[in-house]
This record gives sequence, structure tokens and C-alpha cells, in this order.
Amino acid sequence: MWLRITAVFLVAGAGLLAEDSATLGLVIRKGATVSAVVRESFEADTALGVQSSFRDAKWVLVWRDEGSSSASESYDRLIVVAFKGDCSTVMPKSAYGNGPLGWTSTSGDRVLPFIGIDCDRVKAALMAPEGWPHSIIPSGLLARALSHVALHEIYHVLSERKHHDAEGLFKAEYSPSDLLAPVAMRPAGLAEIAGLPKR
Ligand SMILES: [Zn+2]
Repeated sequence: MWLRITAVFLVAGAGLLAEDSATLGLVIRKGATVSAVVRESFEADTALGVQSSFRDAKWVLVWRDEGSSSASESYDRLIVVAFKGDCSTVMPKSAYGNGPLGWTSTSGDRVLPFIGIDCDRVKAALMAPEGWPHSIIPSGLLARALSHVALHEIYHVLSERKHHDAEGLFKAEYSPSDLLAPVAMRPAGLAEIAGLPKR
């Protein structure tokens, strides 16, 4: 009888944890033009990725444009997102240049809630044969690649980690097939998400 009661409590406890929700506000900074169709897929892919990869809470993503967000809104975490470069579906002529596909702002040891995604570099990285070496990329594929980069940077902010893992979402370099993977990568080791109310 005691065992049965204990089991009931455990199940109830697990159910309660899974229902804990946290809101993540994402404010898109004015900058590079991202078409409505790319933006819509990007937001959907990023939300799915956050929900499947960061399982410490049931994340609800709220997207706002910089300037249109109301001061009365509050979120558990807030991240400002900037796009840079040519975010259209026209691919570059060659895979020119190297450099980070995205970035997270830091100050000393602190990770700041500002991330960026470089559309030119993401598209250049996709020019490899196993990527998308064609002149136009479907908006859903571009959105997917951009969202993989965003997820990586969002994880830097939420976990307040600067160092990378060897594998998974938090590895330092993504291949073209990583960028086009239909499912978000998971962190190799789940880091604690900083700043959430302790249970
Ligand atoms: Zn990184």
C-alpha cells in the first residue's frame, strides 16, 4: 500500500515538472531584411528547436519586432536577435569567406542576451555540394539553416556558457548537412539554464 501511494506521488510530481513553463521573448532588431515567409518558418523552427532541445522547462517563445514590444510585457528571459547581410533566398556566386555564422555578445566573462546571425556566411557555408549549391534556396531551407544558428546562440545565452562541446547543438562548427538537418540538435550535456526560478 505504501509503495502504491509513493508511486502516485512520483507520477504527480513528474507531471508538475513537465508543466513548468517559461517565456522566452525574442526581439528582432531592425537591420537586414528577412522576408515574411522566411521569418515565419524561422520562428516556427526555432520554437520547435528550443522546445525539443532545452527540456528544463516548457518554453513558450514570444516574437516581437524592436520598437513594437511593449514595456508592460515581461518574460522569464529576453534575447535580442539581429540578422546581418543578405537574407534573401538568392544564393551567393561562390562560397567566399570564412567566419562565424552567428555570434553572442559577451562582456568579460558574462554572456549578454544579444545574438546575431550572418545570412551571408550561412548561405556561403551552404554552397558546398552536400549543402545547397544552387542559385536560389527554398525559403523553408534557408529558415531552417538560420534557425540552427539561432538555437546555438540562444543556448549560449540561456546557459551562460562560452565554451563548446565536441558534439551536438553546442559544437563549435556546423557542416552544411548540420545546417539543413530537419530536426534540431540536442546539447551533448544539458547545462543548467541560468536565471530560471529554482524549483
Ligand atoms: Zn558558439
